[in-house]
Amino acid sequence: MNIKNKQLAENKARLFEQIEQSGVLSNATLHALASIDRENYVDDQFAPQAYHDVTLPIPAGQTISQILVVGIMIEALSLSWEDKLLEIGTGSGYQTAVLSKLNRRVFSVERFAELVTEAEKNLQAESNNNYTIMHADGFDGFASQAPFDKIIVSAASENIPDKLLQQMKVGGIMVLPLGKDGQKQELLKIIKTQDSYTTHSLGYVKFVPMLTGTA
Ligand code: SAH
Repeated sequence: MNIKNKQLAENKARLFEQIEQSGVLSNATLHALASIDRENYVDDQFAPQAYHDVTLPIPAGQTISQILVVGIMIEALSLSWEDKLLEIGTGSGYQTAVLSKLNRRVFSVERFAELVTEAEKNLQAESNNNYTIMHADGFDGFASQAPFDKIIVSAASENIPDKLLQQMKVGGIMVLPLGKDGQKQELLKIIKTQDSYTTHSLGYVKFVPMLTGTA
């Protein structure tokens, strides 16, 4: 282990100790998060900050979320191995990697072709390959695989995307940041009911915007 890796390992151990002590994550979520090395999902120049409590730049002007925020979103999904799961906003593939430790097959949608390639490259370093990444507009969901038990959205929209609601099973859970670009957004847990849905606030966050179309 070189000095750089030793420093990262120490940083990682320290951050996970803090996250564990905060008591907001179950052991299963903590374990899945800790099993992924976040430095492998960012450019080498940002690797030293992989275990700081910050978002980090990824290609196409996007960002990789903070580890704790990923954990809080995943925890709110109450994910089972057998759940049909959809992720919107693959980005670097970091969160896809964490989800793939907790779920049978992760379906993920990303609007930037460049990031689909990047995520697939990053994910190849993992031992498992139980994920499917589609280059498409996440506002359309993933119709051929619907309905879903769980949906996790990692880009902020001003309204709850209709098609995502339609592609959920009754009793299903969607976690998404809702609000305008550049402002504080509310992280919501939505549970679909027979005729409508209920919403529960998980706090405030700042995500990149969910944009229509592909690039
Ligand atoms: N979870 C990612 C973080 C992604 S940042 C990670 O772990 O790295 C949010 C991502 O959502 C960006 O990659 C952005 O391109 C993507 N995105 C934004 N609008 C989208 C849309 N309509 N459909 C699919 N992906 C979208």
